[in-house]
Amino acid sequence: MHVNQTRAQQHPISKPGKSVAIVGAGPGGLSVAMLLAAAGLDVTIFESQPVIGGRTRRLEAGPYSFDCGPTFFMMPYVLEEIFGAVGMATSDFVEMKRLDPMYRLLIGNDRGTAPTQIDTTGDLDKMAAQLERVQPGDGAAFLRFIADNRKKLSLMEPILRSPIRGLSDLMNLDALKVAPVLRPWESIYTHLTRYFKSEESRLAMSFQSKYLGMSPFECPSLFSILPFIEYEYGVWHPIGGCNALTAAMAEACTRLGARVETASPVQRIVFDGKRASGVVVQGETRKFDHVVINADATWALKNLIPESLRTREHKDAALDAKRYSCSTFMLYLGMEGEVDLPHHTIYTSTKYRQNLADIGEGRLSEDASFYVCNPSRTDPTLAPKGDSALYVLVPTANLQAAADGAPIDWKKSAPQLRAETLARLESVMGIRDAAKRVKAEIMFTPDDWRAQNINHGATFNLAHNITQMLHWRPQHRLQGFDNLWTVGGGTHPGSGLPVIFLASEITSRLLCAECGVKSPLDAPLARRGDSTLPRERDGVLAGV
Ligand SMILES: Cc1cc2nc3c(=O)[nH]c(=O)nc-3n(C[C@H](O)[C@H](O)[C@H](O)COP(=O)(O)OP(=O)(O)OC[C@H]3O[C@@H](n4cnc5c(N)ncnc54)[C@H](O)[C@@H]3O)c2cc1C
Repeated sequence: MHVNQTRAQQHPISKPGKSVAIVGAGPGGLSVAMLLAAAGLDVTIFESQPVIGGRTRRLEAGPYSFDCGPTFFMMPYVLEEIFGAVGMATSDFVEMKRLDPMYRLLIGNDRGTAPTQIDTTGDLDKMAAQLERVQPGDGAAFLRFIADNRKKLSLMEPILRSPIRGLSDLMNLDALKVAPVLRPWESIYTHLTRYFKSEESRLAMSFQSKYLGMSPFECPSLFSILPFIEYEYGVWHPIGGCNALTAAMAEACTRLGARVETASPVQRIVFDGKRASGVVVQGETRKFDHVVINADATWALKNLIPESLRTREHKDAALDAKRYSCSTFMLYLGMEGEVDLPHHTIYTSTKYRQNLADIGEGRLSEDASFYVCNPSRTDPTLAPKGDSALYVLVPTANLQAAADGAPIDWKKSAPQLRAETLARLESVMGIRDAAKRVKAEIMFTPDDWRAQNINHGATFNLAHNITQMLHWRPQHRLQGFDNLWTVGGGTHPGSGLPVIFLASEITSRLLCAECGVKSPLDAPLARRGDSTLPRERDGVLAGV
């Protein structure tokens, strides 16, 4: 599929509606643009990078291509809702594969024995049998955990799909009544001790807090829905990688008449009093009726909006006092030959708690947890025939975390961590001659993420502790402004593709209402692929 990314794509569709500028062409910006353009608004997306996609863009090293960020695609039905609302289907653009096994877990221990291997599967009985072998009783506990979380997700769904502007919105959604079930004050790890006896099973159902860049010992137990979502709706691989989804959205935007201007960083948002009146791009002021921020929310607050106009909770000092997710050290490796690993393999450290403490406190670990994606196993489009495109992610401290008063000096540490990681591909993952087989390579450190306008290089945005969720996150209609909006991982519900798409749905509905136009989400779904829809019994389609 070809996506035309010229700087100012003119479109033939005339747009009499209000004009909207979107700052950033990440998944949040592109998905909201689809919905707004389909509603008849005149949409222009400004993207600072030469390519679209943000953290969900395609990276290339010689003949190898990689996902920059997301590799696990979950709840594809949310994206299908968006494509369906605008009269298209995800399957018009991208072929999707459900992975089984979903991923391999290698759980290290401090007993000096080999890691416990669990090949996770959506076949619940098979999965229960695996956990039963790990620890008698944990198999039945798993089935109970899944049933309980099915209920939990249906209770949470109205919250995930609604704007939360304060306690009154929560009360309207009966959120306080369901709080005793959701237990937001409890950590996911503590919550799991009620179900599972073995550390291995607890870890298998809690490492997913890393998707939010958080430790399971701190992450609220609300997020036990993450493993549930994997087991219930599957882990998917879009052919070409998750970046094929952003390419598809960019193509859809163009077809719907939105303009995408790449290599066009917004330097600042301009205001008329408290109203955003436009954006400055390459020195030129461009006038708009509304501005939507998709760039990393706290970065944008600090860098695009004058501090004097921001509310108290968004002044520099307040933003600096907030907690941020972890960062990541990345190696994208074009490898000679095939690699005998499943599509996803996650290794957890023998010193798991120490590793998490190091990440929180700004140190490197001796035996860090890490994750390897070997998508060439499933998808031949990513590497030359017979070769592999490997993606290696090591969770690390963000640049706010500073042991001994100074953050890690990545200029010094990166070469060493690179060498260690390549050695561990061999010793932990069993990839023979890993270092010698590297034919092309890209490396990212937290410094590189920060250089991409990501505050503190915190790749998963503001942390998702309870005091930074719901209405305490930057809101869909940004606090203090009438016509300034947010989408993406920085707003409610948070980081991760499915919830980013839910945020776009919320923001687009609010903005359409403000402009007096009908949201395409309010119309009956025009088209919808059926392969990835949730099973009706879960009631998760309610509200679609
Ligand atoms: C390493 C990594 C792994 C991840 N893995 C997963 C996963 O497996 N599954 C999952 O669901 N999620 C995952 N995520 C989380 C999340 O889904 C992605 O980060 C997602 O891309 C975030 O989308 P977004 O729209 O919020 O922001 P972004 O993707 O960051 O998009 C924001 C855009 O704004 C642009 N921008 C910034 N400043 C300006 C400016 N001044 N002017 C114009 N444009 C600007 C940026 O260049 C960028 O294109 C992962 C993230 C990372 C980093």
